[in-house]
Amino acid sequence: MSEYDFDIFVIGGGINGCGIARDAVGRGYRVGLAEMNDLASATSSASTKLFHGGLRYLEYFEFRLVKEALIEREHLLHAMPHISWPMRFVLPLAPDMRFDNSTPTSRLLRKVMPWMQGRRPDWLIRLGLFLYDHMGGRKILPATETLNLQTAAEGQPLKNSFAKAFEYSDCWIEDSRLVALNAQDAKQRGAHVMTRTKVIATQRHADHWVVTLLDQKTQDRHEITTKMIVNAAGPWVGELLGQTLGLKTNEGVRLVRGSHIVTHKLFDHDKAYFFQGTDGRIIFAIPYENDFTLIGTTDQDHLDPNEPVECTAEEQAYLLNFASQYFETPVTNDDIVWTFSGVRPLYDDGASSASAATRDYVLKIDCADDTAPVLNIFGGKITTYRKLAESALVEIENALGAKSAPWTKRVPLPGGDFNVDGFDALVKNLLDSYDFLTSTWATRMVRMYGTNAEKIIAKVAQTSDGKQDFGCNVTAAELDWGIENEFVQTADDFVWRRTRLGLKLTNEQIQSIDSYILGNQ
Ligand code: FAD
Repeated sequence: MSEYDFDIFVIGGGINGCGIARDAVGRGYRVGLAEMNDLASATSSASTKLFHGGLRYLEYFEFRLVKEALIEREHLLHAMPHISWPMRFVLPLAPDMRFDNSTPTSRLLRKVMPWMQGRRPDWLIRLGLFLYDHMGGRKILPATETLNLQTAAEGQPLKNSFAKAFEYSDCWIEDSRLVALNAQDAKQRGAHVMTRTKVIATQRHADHWVVTLLDQKTQDRHEITTKMIVNAAGPWVGELLGQTLGLKTNEGVRLVRGSHIVTHKLFDHDKAYFFQGTDGRIIFAIPYENDFTLIGTTDQDHLDPNEPVECTAEEQAYLLNFASQYFETPVTNDDIVWTFSGVRPLYDDGASSASAATRDYVLKIDCADDTAPVLNIFGGKITTYRKLAESALVEIENALGAKSAPWTKRVPLPGGDFNVDGFDALVKNLLDSYDFLTSTWATRMVRMYGTNAEKIIAKVAQTSDGKQDFGCNVTAAELDWGIENEFVQTADDFVWRRTRLGLKLTNEQIQSIDSYILGNQ
């Protein structure tokens, strides 16, 4: 038994920190993790929520990243068929739009075909989609098709000038639930996960670190010891490096803010739109939480991770204007019901524009001069979190010695132990077993908890207070589950990150959820 508390101490409870913690504890390391706020309270709850290869990254020749992400989509679908599902994307062709010089591909096209004036020709988009279909060993997801927008239902909400579209596949992921389920699984396997715990100081020794933690609720400080640190602090990775870890380094992080607007539902079908803009950028318009449409994103340099991360009036106007070039009925400020923003912690590769900065991840180990190691994580995507964790484990094994082989591929996250096409059967089983459930309620429970939904509903059925309804069929039994298993400590954790019910519940309902949670921890 080592004299130190942990082999690995992870700083940051976003997707990368939780993914690494889960992988490492499953291989037999002793793992601790500190998150200064709630799990997924920063970037990992503010993504566009796609498991995707990133069609537009092909234009930047990021073939490694795109291929890895495309292959990963289907492994992830198998491991979490409750919180992730296939989605079709309609990409209208925009014959009259002229594009600028913003990507390497558009600059090349301007040189070899000046008469195109920067427009992405249809054949180029089709070629990109051909690669997209064939680079990633697709088995579950259907291939690209051509749509006649004049006759297809997907053409109805769009302006008449859009006659043709390509339709391709990617996947939806409930981003912040993905983080919570990784943390839950890591804990079940023996990791010590502490939320609302900030790493405020470290001391480096020859074979271990002493880490000072601040309990954000009580303001108590305490120290732990660990053989190695993993710095997965996302937007704060640079601040941690220079200040808390005291490392001298030239590695830089480029913070790029991305904002989304959520509007009333703008269309009735369950497919998403992929719109090309005249500035060379793209945005998505995606069906969201049944009653809404999610539109994003932007790319704005964001200099200080401690500055508030908000969707500015300019970003809102940009997204409204962009979407209105496609939708028949203009999208206006009055349609907006919510906005959210996140900061991409990208590796600074010296790219000129925020859109062009690499989305690939970079891992840098520092174990200079016979001192205890630290692994710093830059960049990455939700989609590649599991692969990033596997790469991190290669570095960890080099530093600490190997324990056991990679294991996470297709191993279900909590509640994900059912077939990718088994969702409807799970809902039906619940409905058949509990006559008080409605279809909407049962569907929501399976979407969130998968096979664990039955455990919560059984408790609702057994106890009279378990049925207590806080609104939208949220019961005391469900809140208890969140407190016991998913690190829920406030109403905000539950209504904005374990669920998105904040969009539907009233302030009074959220207040009574808060009181229940505070009284039952
Ligand atoms: P974070 O989620 O930010 O986690 C870092 C954590 O560290 C934070 O929770 C923070 O509180 C904690 N922390 C910091 N300092 C300390 C400290 N001193 N002590 C304790 N804790 C600390 N990827 C996709 O695959 N698909 C998408 O559709 C997609 N869309 C995106 C859209 C936008 C607008 C953005 C911004 C990103 C998007 N991404 C997408 C990328 C993806 O969201 C990020 O790469 C990913 O969430 C980063 O996770 P992380 O764990 O590195 O950082």
